[in-house]
Amino acid sequence: MVDRRLTRLLAHEMASGLRAGDFSARELVDAHLGLALATDRPLHAWLFLDDEAARAAADRADARLAEARRAGAGALNALPALLGVPLGLKDLVVTRGQASTAGSRILEGFVGPFDATIAARIREAGGIVVGKTNMDEFAMGSSTEHSAWGPTANPWDLGRVPGGSSGGSAAAVAAYHVPLAIGTDTGGSIRQPAALCGVAGMKPTYGRVSRYGIIAFASSLDQVGPFARDVRDLATLLQVVAGRDDNDSTSSPLPVPDYAALLPEGDDEAAALLRGMRLGLPREYFAAGLEPGVEARVREAAAALESAGAEIVDVSLPHTDYGLATYYLIAPAEASANLARYDGIRFGHSMRDGDVLANYLATRGTGFGPEVKRRIVLGTYALSAGYYDAYYVKAQKARTLIKADFDAAFERVDALIAPTSPTVAFPLGARMHDPVAMYLSDVCTLPVNVAGLPGLSVPCGLSDGLPVGLQVIGRAWEEARVLQIGRAYEAISADAGWRRLEPSDLPALENPSTPAPGVAAGSAA
Ligand code: GLN
Repeated sequence: MVDRRLTRLLAHEMASGLRAGDFSARELVDAHLGLALATDRPLHAWLFLDDEAARAAADRADARLAEARRAGAGALNALPALLGVPLGLKDLVVTRGQASTAGSRILEGFVGPFDATIAARIREAGGIVVGKTNMDEFAMGSSTEHSAWGPTANPWDLGRVPGGSSGGSAAAVAAYHVPLAIGTDTGGSIRQPAALCGVAGMKPTYGRVSRYGIIAFASSLDQVGPFARDVRDLATLLQVVAGRDDNDSTSSPLPVPDYAALLPEGDDEAAALLRGMRLGLPREYFAAGLEPGVEARVREAAAALESAGAEIVDVSLPHTDYGLATYYLIAPAEASANLARYDGIRFGHSMRDGDVLANYLATRGTGFGPEVKRRIVLGTYALSAGYYDAYYVKAQKARTLIKADFDAAFERVDALIAPTSPTVAFPLGARMHDPVAMYLSDVCTLPVNVAGLPGLSVPCGLSDGLPVGLQVIGRAWEEARVLQIGRAYEAISADAGWRRLEPSDLPALENPSTPAPGVAAGSAA
């Protein structure tokens, strides 16, 4: 019988329980693996679970805990933050000796030759990687339906998407399979699925986290970040992965603040952080396409922040409308270059029945899915000789304007608050035949990547029984302030009734006759 109580704990509660000897890392990992193995079929959050490696790591963590307990309180306090805590990695984080497919058939059979820097840092901090989570192929998508391995469902409604592209990580955290997970966010892929699954997720400033060993999508936009069920846990995981890495020249040498120390434990202290803070509500984010239920929850959150002492300021980001077009020129252009390496010779899937060109065409023709092919075609076109200035260079100019909008707003306010996603989770299949409708899922998150800024999504209530996310956007390198606002919002909404609700379809996950997500679920919706 799986112990459900252990899986309901937050990561920081696990860390203190482990130190106190309330339970062992092995019990913790067994509980999480047991739940994931028993309930993942209808969810499909995981592409694989490495139970053997996870249990071995748990036993090593228990040995370290026992040793520290013998040595005394000082040794226990000196143990690393994640020791014994289970977590998941998005399937584009390369780990030594394990598969990473980035949700693509073209990487089928690829085995990681080394650990990504963030994976190595997580292991050094004692974190136990239990497996890799499902994702849209090469992180292109907003629903996890573009995974070559089939979609993931949303634990709040198994007929709906979890968001994407990091939908597996978000769903796994929401379904209590793990307290923490890693995602990547190129245009919203951490924040949007966090919002749709009712968990917290953060995209740090561009350059805050190393991408060495992360399978690339769009190099001037991609950032790695954490998922968790509260802001303190989010900060702990960010702390572990953040900071300069000599293997990634785009990672920043700026010192990483002690995020945990800046986040008060007590709700009163956390709420007090809001006093005198100026928060901007960008007018353009409350536009057509925003569901009334989402708008209502976000405005209520703004009102709550105001009653707690923040000043809410109306601001304008006039180039917001160009965000989508700008992103969908730059991201595919960079993707077309990054994906050129999948040639059937160096990685994974390989068709070898003809000459070099025939093999190349057959490998890419059968290895990439339709959305990836669409992006490669778009990107190649935007970069081609006759169109480069008209599209790519133009998009870079628009990017500068979008960034300037944020710079101007941050002269007046300390941070921005906005919806994360214009809608709650949509039914499986609903946007699969309309790429632009799918692209619009990220209209509130894309500009933040275009400008390279940190952004957070925290749950702020429900609309029609489905989670809504509040987005907090900060100045570059001000993750600490963004986290503080998220923590303060948690504090002032701690007593809200919706906080006590669990994802509504958890019982269906326990039912062995619930079908796996996919065509059946999509057509039923
Ligand atoms: N949905 C956006 C896209 O498809 C963003 C994806 C992401 O952040 N990786 O490109």
